[in-house]
Amino acid sequence: MADTPPRTAQPTARPDRAVAPTRTPADAFARASASVSGSAEDPVHDADLIVIGGGPAGCAAARTAAGVGMRTILIEPDALCRNLYRIPALNNVLGGWTDGPALADAVTAELRSTDLCRLELGREVGGVHVHDEHVAVTLDTGARLTAPHVVVATGVGPLQPHDVGWITAPDTRPLPPLWRATSRDAEARTLLVLGGDRPIGTFLRARPDTDTRLLVAYPESDAYKIEEIRDDPRVTLLPTERLTLSVSVSGRATADILSGDGGRRTVTADAAYLSIGNAPTAPPGDLVRGADGYCPPGDQHPRVIVAGDLRAARFQRIMTALGSGSEAALRAYYAARDLSAGR
Ligand SMILES: Cc1cc2nc3c(=O)[nH]c(=O)nc-3n(C[C@H](O)[C@H](O)[C@H](O)COP(=O)(O)OP(=O)(O)OC[C@H]3O[C@@H](n4cnc5c(N)ncnc54)[C@H](O)[C@@H]3O)c2cc1C
Repeated sequence: MADTPPRTAQPTARPDRAVAPTRTPADAFARASASVSGSAEDPVHDADLIVIGGGPAGCAAARTAAGVGMRTILIEPDALCRNLYRIPALNNVLGGWTDGPALADAVTAELRSTDLCRLELGREVGGVHVHDEHVAVTLDTGARLTAPHVVVATGVGPLQPHDVGWITAPDTRPLPPLWRATSRDAEARTLLVLGGDRPIGTFLRARPDTDTRLLVAYPESDAYKIEEIRDDPRVTLLPTERLTLSVSVSGRATADILSGDGGRRTVTADAAYLSIGNAPTAPPGDLVRGADGYCPPGDQHPRVIVAGDLRAARFQRIMTALGSGSEAALRAYYAARDLSAGR
């Protein structure tokens, strides 16, 4: 690679404009791959960088990597920026972005037209394994991809009832977090919310006119968090010592609740949602996890670079995700140059 990072032409993406059929990012990726010659010392990998996770951190990593000439594969099981699509009101994002779906549309359009970035959507990574010369990434299809470096930006997911001691939920399928409920899920319905974590306030503020009723069952440890929703007439607070949950096939939820003062009650709702916090969602394999499950970047193998929310509970913002993703790509870029210079 040249001393100065080469800049590839990045057309400004417009969601309403079709990509010219004669030249697509996939074509550019294929041409760049075809021009790479392999040898025993310089084996041809599937990409120069594999990015796992298509949130803000993964998208920033892929965009930056492609921008310095690295053939990049980004793997995401869902849509790019799937979480941003469910955040109606954004705070603290430079550039005046206050609408999650609008930011997600802009990022998605740009990634789709980024030369050298191949998107593998609808694919989940089931394993990351580090070897001397490369990292191997296994997809849920069984396919195996290799690259000299991998950026892991898989973020966090909701804790489930079986992760906390105060809920018993036999045979319950994974429940979604409240913030993923759409207007259709919520309108004119009664929702049982397990836990008193702060996204409940965000949910209510984003829907000032909704007639959703929330039954919020929360443990003593969440008592300080529910202050901001205490006076909302749509909320019924249920201080809870222990809760036994059952969910019918249609999704209706029934909860038997033992409160702190020994009282018992049974409540029913149209659906159950979670607000008990998040846990890191690192893919299986050779990532180093801390005691809290997060993957500190400084503890990883040099070929594995962690970005975004997966790094630690403390740095979970869109701008930190974008910055850390971008930095992760440049780390891989400079590491690759050092490796080739040393040969
Ligand atoms: C309700 C809510 C409101 C928020 N509001 C704000 C706000 O106003 N301002 C702000 O700055 N921040 C806000 N945040 C935080 C912000 O959304 C996150 O910090 C940011 O999305 C983190 O980006 P990320 O790319 O690290 O992770 P994520 O956005 O979580 O993306 C991770 C991606 O990895 C994918 N993935 C997971 N496992 C795998 C796997 N095995 N293989 C492949 N892909 C995988 C997931 O599908 C996901 O798309 C909010 C968060 C929530 C939940």
